[in-house]
Amino acid sequence: MNLAMEVQNIKGVGEKTATRLAKAGILTVSDLLYNLPRDYEHYQAASKIIDVRPGKIAIRGKIDDFKTRYARRRHLSVTEATISDNTGSIRVVWFNQPYRAKQFIPGREYYFQGAYELHNGRFQLTSPTAKLATDVDQMTNFQPIYAMHGELKPNFFKNLIGKFRGSFATIPDLLPITKSTPDFVKPGVRGESLFRLHFPENATDVEQGRKYLAYEELFEYILAAKLNRQETQKLTAIALEFQLTKTRELVGSLPFKMTNAQRRVAWEILQDLEKNTPMNRLLQGDVGAGKTVVAALAAYQAICNGHQVAFLAPTAILATQHANKLDQLLAPLGVKVALLTGATKNKSVLKKQIASGEVNLVVGTHALLTDDTKFHSLAFCIIDEQHRFGVNQRQKLLLKSPENIAPHLLSMTATPIPRSLQLTVFGDLDISVINELPGGRRPIKTRVLPELHFQEYLYPKVREVLAKNQQIYWICPAVDDNPTAETTSVKKQAKKLQDIFKEAKVAYLHGRMKPAEKDQIMDDFLHHKIDILVSTTVVEVGVDVPNATLMVVMDAEHYGLAQLHQLRGRVGRGDQQSYCFLATPDDHTPSRRLQELTKSTDGFYLSEVDLKLRGPGEIYGALQHGALNLRIANLTDTRLSAAANRHATEIAKNPANMLKYKELNQRIKQYQQLITLN
Ligand code: ADP
Ligand code: MG
Repeated sequence: MNLAMEVQNIKGVGEKTATRLAKAGILTVSDLLYNLPRDYEHYQAASKIIDVRPGKIAIRGKIDDFKTRYARRRHLSVTEATISDNTGSIRVVWFNQPYRAKQFIPGREYYFQGAYELHNGRFQLTSPTAKLATDVDQMTNFQPIYAMHGELKPNFFKNLIGKFRGSFATIPDLLPITKSTPDFVKPGVRGESLFRLHFPENATDVEQGRKYLAYEELFEYILAAKLNRQETQKLTAIALEFQLTKTRELVGSLPFKMTNAQRRVAWEILQDLEKNTPMNRLLQGDVGAGKTVVAALAAYQAICNGHQVAFLAPTAILATQHANKLDQLLAPLGVKVALLTGATKNKSVLKKQIASGEVNLVVGTHALLTDDTKFHSLAFCIIDEQHRFGVNQRQKLLLKSPENIAPHLLSMTATPIPRSLQLTVFGDLDISVINELPGGRRPIKTRVLPELHFQEYLYPKVREVLAKNQQIYWICPAVDDNPTAETTSVKKQAKKLQDIFKEAKVAYLHGRMKPAEKDQIMDDFLHHKIDILVSTTVVEVGVDVPNATLMVVMDAEHYGLAQLHQLRGRVGRGDQQSYCFLATPDDHTPSRRLQELTKSTDGFYLSEVDLKLRGPGEIYGALQHGALNLRIANLTDTRLSAAANRHATEIAKNPANMLKYKELNQRIKQYQQLITLN
């Protein structure tokens, strides 16, 4: 089989279909075969009626004795019947499906699958699916279900892939087989595994097929990360010598004592900077952990060595905050700090100062990336909230170093990556973790609160906070009122709150406002010209208003755990006790997510919980750039990733050997592009 063949060359695929496939990212036969079923329709083996136990069961038998009655003023119909086989009989009930009484052919055997459970003190099979037993016998046990892609229906994929059914044995292998290849990766395994996933006969087929493909994916990913790392290490950076006296001076001038965790990671970074190979390090620290000071120490080392530093932040608000803070810390030591955002006046004057080296540290947004921003001697780049920038943007910044010099790079993120995932997700980076919050912080008191209790519990709290001259974030999921949506809108909520708290200044903020307008509102909130800020999640990232001590999240069930944790990190940033209310429209039992949030403020713990609850795909889907979405592999399968890691390490030792694996080489190159954080 020719995997590289383009889909329009498949017999029966016309231009229109090819376009639709392309939209789904399927350009070649390989893409088509790697479009794996999202699930399987599965006929469980039937048990004898005498053997059934409560739970999901499958039985086959004849059905009779139909009775339909109506309850709740005819709003509910209950259809009962009896299923029997040669070992016994069982009661079956369907709700609101009166047609069931006429559906079955008397005397024929049917296959039923459903839940056998206790209902009003009696066991019954509730609302089973039913199929003629002879039909079920003719089906292979497992039917693949493909995801729908635009107008391409699941069965379209089933038919198209079905055309290749006879040729899977000719699919060439992909992975080099060496002494560190695990046993199950043998010649022919790739074609066999793909076949098993598209045409399985049983659960073992699916499991085995997935195991190999997950391995393949992890191997490619880890190898790409290793090669990226090797390539980085071939580059030359400016060695920035550690400055004992000056570093001590800066540390001594801080208004607080650095935590042990801050000292440890700072030391890791300062040592990296001394090398003439570029640092590529990710600094992880929960919201409020104090990453900025660590960045300042590192920047100061570069500046004391006579070079410049660029500090990139995702929004103007954040860039401004960072610039102010760094100026406070470093200006007394003679460092010239400048801010460059879209709103900066006299950009050309500033750019001249950057080009001449007069400015030592430039903090900026995307505005920093334009071609006409040139540095005198850029040796070190810091990127805050690195996942908010694309590969190209990061690349643009790094290219501002002198020719043939790669700058040291420190990426920072407040999104905790579970330890179990770090090796795989960020294999090409060194990682430093600030795993301790500055002392004196009080954990944010968090509770779930149904809206019907607002009057009683929340509004008095709001008055209390306002009376103390503190501020409030009020998060809503929607911008406008949408009569069909059940969610709360920013505008409506702002109006409502203004009516209730007449003396307070209420304003709203959302992503569809103009950037200047947004910055103005944020600035007003920062300077306490606003008491209650009703907002969508645009406030999520990095904003530091220590006087805000109360957050209300409307419709909290709409958000993921990681996102709620990030949001909540906007409060609890000063020494005042802070509160977070997770509002739900009614008093249903809250989800596990919300319950966990009320119990813990530890981002790493919560990220592990999130991983267990949602799986890695979704978490890293949110990380957008840089991190990938694994399609098959489950990153929590640490044994498989350890095996892939051993195998990839061996191959990476001698990448030249890989050249003979053409397809692999090409795929690895794509991965390298996707994951590069350089
Ligand atoms: P983040 O890691 O979220 O970027 P910041 O660097 O913005 O956190 O720090 C949050 C706040 O904590 C800032 O006001 C900062 O001055 C303060 N801070 C940082 N380190 C310490 C420390 N060791 N002790 C007390 N306060 C600290
Ligand atoms: Mg920060």
